[in-house]
Amino acid sequence: MCELPVWIGIDDTDSYYGGCTTWIAAKLASRFKDRLVDFPYLIRLNPEIPWKTRGNGALAIGLSSLTDKEVEEVASFVMATARDEGKTNPSLLISWGRERQERFAIKAVRDVVTKRELERTLAKIGPTSRYFLKKPGKMRGLIGCIAAINHPWSDATYELIAYRDDQNYERPEFRDDVLWMDSLTAPVTFANFDREMGKPLIYPHGPDPVLFGIRGEDPKVLKAAMTILGNSCSLWMVFKTNQGTNEHVVDVNGFAWAYPYTTASIEARVASNPVITPGGHVVIDMVDRDGNSGQAVFYRQTGNLNRVARRLMKGDLVRVWGGMRPEAQHKVINGQGLVLIAPKILYDEVPSCPFCHRKMREVNAGRYICDTCKVQAIGRARFRLKRDIIVNRIYQPSASAFKHLMKPAGRRPIRIPQEIESVLS
Ligand code: ATP
Repeated sequence: MCELPVWIGIDDTDSYYGGCTTWIAAKLASRFKDRLVDFPYLIRLNPEIPWKTRGNGALAIGLSSLTDKEVEEVASFVMATARDEGKTNPSLLISWGRERQERFAIKAVRDVVTKRELERTLAKIGPTSRYFLKKPGKMRGLIGCIAAINHPWSDATYELIAYRDDQNYERPEFRDDVLWMDSLTAPVTFANFDREMGKPLIYPHGPDPVLFGIRGEDPKVLKAAMTILGNSCSLWMVFKTNQGTNEHVVDVNGFAWAYPYTTASIEARVASNPVITPGGHVVIDMVDRDGNSGQAVFYRQTGNLNRVARRLMKGDLVRVWGGMRPEAQHKVINGQGLVLIAPKILYDEVPSCPFCHRKMREVNAGRYICDTCKVQAIGRARFRLKRDIIVNRIYQPSASAFKHLMKPAGRRPIRIPQEIESVLS
């Protein structure tokens, strides 16, 4: 029996055919609910990792104590429920106290952790931890276990995940209830409903036990949101997460510092007008301040972001962020967001009619007339043309193309007023 907080890290237990690491964590957290030292953690790791199954989630649970017998119970439960088909590396790490591996944890969110780094870290934490693998020698899942246990919290959101009681993967979608819940609880909850497409976003579509997930800033409001939905299920859990925080994005000085399998944010100038591919994707050539060139691609699926990227022009100064493609020679960003910092300024010398705003016609050198209103203007002047893209606004993908770690524009931790707190608790 050990009295330190004991940390359980779990990762890589699901495959394309089923399973869900959050379900395993929810079951364990319910089993030991009297000993939880915090909410269970759901940490989204580097979204650019090619060997992830879905959302690259890793889980950790902190308990005030755990007996040796219970350690065996946890291990046999995790190993029995983890899926072993395909490329999974089901892993469990039990750690007595935390060994301050925050740098490792952040690297797992922003970059690729190598096998050597994993081995070195395991050697350091060895004396205070014990690990279990479902496939002997397949240790990759331990990266997620260490990262989830040691995650440093600079910002956090919460997700309430409810699980199905049956094996039916056909999930009923209650569109109007979700819309109603969203209108009552947003922005304390977010990513519930795509108003552009008219569809709920809380229902996953894979073969996993999740019924729905509601994301937000405050656990009590999440519980209230579940009550509004009116679903009854025997297992649900609130997780503390790094979702919606942009923790994966790294600001870099230019393309030379943007490496494959990371998410980089780069300031650069648009080098030529956007090219639209036959599939509707937008490709933009860019040059950074060191004169290095690269490209940003805004896929058609990003909806609103793709539409805004079409309006960029050669000469615009922009900040673009997104996942770097693996090709090391040719730097290409898969755009997740953009800000127009300084637009190329366009002038027109033909005035518009002050009444109807139509372009006036030049009748003589320097003399203009509006053919509709008959208003006349004399003399050339330079008129700054309006661009239909707002300077310094963050443009992001449409709601249905949003990924777990992306921070909704304008999101900031919200404090619930005291009087509402008492109603919710
Ligand atoms: P989810 O539970 O959301 O479905 P996932 O199934 O997409 O997550 P996993 O099945 O957990 O992802 O597979 C990801 C694997 O990659 C794990 O073994 C994890 O340890 C490993 N991994 C995650 N991030 C990194 C990283 N930054 N560097 C190296 N390996 C990583």
